[in-house]
Amino acid sequence: MSGIFDTKIEFLKGVGPQRAALLNKELNIFTYGELIQHYPFRYEDRTRFFKIRELSSDLENVQIVAKIQKVELIGVGNKRRLVAHVADETGEMEMTWFKGIQWVQKKLPTGAIYIFFGKPARYGSKWSIAHPEMEPISAANEQRNNFQPVYSTTEKLRARFLDSRGISKIMEVLVQACFPHIHETLPQEILHQYQLIGKQEAIRQIHFPSKPDLLHRARKRLKFEEFFFLQLRLLMLKVTRTEKFKGQSLGNTELLTEFYQNHIPFELTNAQKRVIREAFADMKSGKQMNRLIQGDVGSGKTMVAFICMLIAISSGAQACLMAPTEILANQHYEGLKEYADMMGLEIEILTGSVKKSKRKVIHEKLLSGELKILIGTHALLEDVVQFQNLGLAIVDEQHRFGVAQRAKLWAKNEEFIPHVLVMTATPIPRTLAMTLYGDLDVSVIDELPAGRKPIQTVHRYDKDRLKVFGFINEEIKKGRQVYIVYPLIEESETLDLKNVMDGFESISRAFPNYPISIVNGSMKAEAKDYEMQRFVKGETKIMVATTVIEVGVNVPNASVMVIENAERFGLSQLHQLRGRVGRGAEQSYCILMSKYELSKEGRVRLETMVRTNDGFEIADVDLKLRGPGDLMGTQQSGVTDLLIADLGKDAPILTLARDAAQQLLAQDPTLSLPENAPVLRQVKQQKKTAVNWSRIS
Ligand code: ADP
Ligand code: MG
Repeated sequence: MSGIFDTKIEFLKGVGPQRAALLNKELNIFTYGELIQHYPFRYEDRTRFFKIRELSSDLENVQIVAKIQKVELIGVGNKRRLVAHVADETGEMEMTWFKGIQWVQKKLPTGAIYIFFGKPARYGSKWSIAHPEMEPISAANEQRNNFQPVYSTTEKLRARFLDSRGISKIMEVLVQACFPHIHETLPQEILHQYQLIGKQEAIRQIHFPSKPDLLHRARKRLKFEEFFFLQLRLLMLKVTRTEKFKGQSLGNTELLTEFYQNHIPFELTNAQKRVIREAFADMKSGKQMNRLIQGDVGSGKTMVAFICMLIAISSGAQACLMAPTEILANQHYEGLKEYADMMGLEIEILTGSVKKSKRKVIHEKLLSGELKILIGTHALLEDVVQFQNLGLAIVDEQHRFGVAQRAKLWAKNEEFIPHVLVMTATPIPRTLAMTLYGDLDVSVIDELPAGRKPIQTVHRYDKDRLKVFGFINEEIKKGRQVYIVYPLIEESETLDLKNVMDGFESISRAFPNYPISIVNGSMKAEAKDYEMQRFVKGETKIMVATTVIEVGVNVPNASVMVIENAERFGLSQLHQLRGRVGRGAEQSYCILMSKYELSKEGRVRLETMVRTNDGFEIADVDLKLRGPGDLMGTQQSGVTDLLIADLGKDAPILTLARDAAQQLLAQDPTLSLPENAPVLRQVKQQKKTAVNWSRIS
């Protein structure tokens, strides 16, 4: 959009300088183009009449036609309310008033049929609407065709008569002025194939819907367009990068074969095999690999990493793995060393706490090529760390590393950028992954090794604590170990500490005979490590901790995870924590402790955890609950800039749009065909205004 769309809104009839200044400030709207894209966030559907049986709690305002059966006053003092019992042929419900009772009462003759309008809520076994709008039914209003847009606005705008209706009024002027200038941005072929309505019609319908069906198609069209250009940009970025960066061809499988034939301790799962094949195809292709491996906790990412390392080493290169914390780096090191030793390969760990003299040796061995595998924290990124030939860089738990850090890894090989594997145990819904990592190739390890017993998860209230302690006692008697985790209280470190220290004390009192470890955020790294190690070795039976143990820690003998104040944790965090158990052969348990009163969302989170162990399902619920804006890593991605599409809810449209973008680029990678001219124009236009997309990768 250009020309008229760059016009300042103060020039629009009905806006003027004062309202314009307010719109600038309150809604960040400066131009016609920005205003016309201020889409309604919902519509009040006055065309549809709901039956009482159809009500559900996720409905916004609804219209109901019902007959008044009985009106009564209930309660006294400020609890006093007027209740009208109403019914249609499908059921009964209540209309309730807390204020203006006398006035309303007069308007509610028993036996009259009214249209009620408002947001339904459920109290006990009945639906109820508080302070509904109401009017007697008539032939005219039952037939009416009135579909009102609701725009987001603010108090200050409302004070200037820019409430939803006010915005709708200026929108009328705007859409009329702009209408002839609205150009199609999608190629005809795509419009046709996906049965999308044209842009002009879509803009008109989105602001002034004439029929539900057309509104629906308008929304679909605009969402599609938004996703389409997002995906197109990501895919084009990928194409450019693949062309720009050569990769060293690593195709030798000698070591892999040896490992496979003589040493591998278990049969790989099919998912592991598939992911290894995908990475191998990249590594030998001569192009640089940028691959994300998603695998739920316990899916066996370490082995996949090691096998990829073997491929690199066979082919004469070195490999490194970078983890976000020292504890994690250590665990990777221990796990991988076991395998490396079997193969007689040198492996070292480099973290902040490695002594200078030792570092020096590591640096030398890296340069000479003697050292094949290096594990570490961000200490790996220091300039002094130079490889003879780094072929594969693996990054664990991607979201904790900044993009700049990943770029530094790239610089470790001057001739060829190393192949990059990013591993994450944070399952991301596929749709979000497509966008967050749209320019990476994604592999998913979607299968757990056979024979795992699914973790049993229960939700218990604080009053059940004694029983829970009894259960813990039983498990420890069987030789198992237990985690008890407290939430991190971010606002206050002191409170945080108090929380976990209080916990520690009460646990110590409840289990006087068991050695107990405690790890919290304010402890020094060494002290933490020491306590962790005691627990790893089985010297302590209970680990009381704040969330520091969240990722990666592996103690197969631990079979119970108790999460205190579980309602305070986010879903992905709960899932990560639960993944700390269920790593051995024993039946494992996760006990979510909470207070009795929970928010609606808190309850959904806990119910979800109890219902499923599937990280992807959990991630989906999380995305729906929170929206993508709050999910890790989305802020910098531009995902939050979406105007109308919603990654949580519009996954099917996203998939279509991505397919369409892929198809288009396959036919016309540079967008130079005449029929794709509008697309190219739009891409260029967006480039001018958009966030810096290179930041994503
Ligand atoms: P994560 O994906 O969480 O990093 P790990 O790599 O730590 O998972 O693997 C979890 C556990 O499962 C480890 O003890 C590992 O040895 C074991 N494991 C991995 N792959 C398999 C397999 N194919 N069969 C059996 N056990 C496996
Ligand atoms: Mg791991």
